[in-house]
Amino acid sequence: MKLICIGRNYAAHIDELNNERPKEPVVFIKPDSAILPKEQDFYIPDFTDNVHYEVEVLVKIKKVGKHIAKEFAPNYYDEIGLGIDFTARDVQQELKSKGLPWEKAKGFDGAAVVGKWMHKNKYENIDKLGFSLLKNGEIVQNGHTSLMLWKIDELIAYVSTYFMLKKGDILFTGTPAGVGRVVANDYLEGRIGEEAFFALNVR
Ligand code: ZN
Repeated sequence: MKLICIGRNYAAHIDELNNERPKEPVVFIKPDSAILPKEQDFYIPDFTDNVHYEVEVLVKIKKVGKHIAKEFAPNYYDEIGLGIDFTARDVQQELKSKGLPWEKAKGFDGAAVVGKWMHKNKYENIDKLGFSLLKNGEIVQNGHTSLMLWKIDELIAYVSTYFMLKKGDILFTGTPAGVGRVVANDYLEGRIGEEAFFALNVR
């Protein structure tokens, strides 16, 4: 399986990193080896001094599809989740400045936190979900899916024109503003509404 990730999908986050607003979604892939095993601590790799958390709403693909029209996208997922796209920001900045791919900054072991899953029917409208990340008990990121530049069904239509989606693939839908650094002994908790979807320690 693969993790298909969207960058620059919230205007306020684009501005905080001084990036340009894209005309199309920014897409990158993480390998399945990037998934942090359940209940395991996140270890900051020694090739970076600046790992950032990015909390993101996740969508689990339930069947094979390609060239999926936006109006049929809901047939391809039932479950919504929450996770972290950990990013070695220093490595990424260097790669970006050279015009090189980001994989070393975003695809390393443990760089993808995948929390629990919830059936989409639990929510009235998945384009109106509030979600947050708490670091050591304080809210550091507050997002709302209504603020996505491209909504979930548009993202599925877009990415499926390039990549065949397969059962079990996970879409990371981009992070809102408020990204920041983690250090050893930080404790991160992600929530949709008031409900916790994941919690982990940083080492
Ligand atoms: Zn991200």
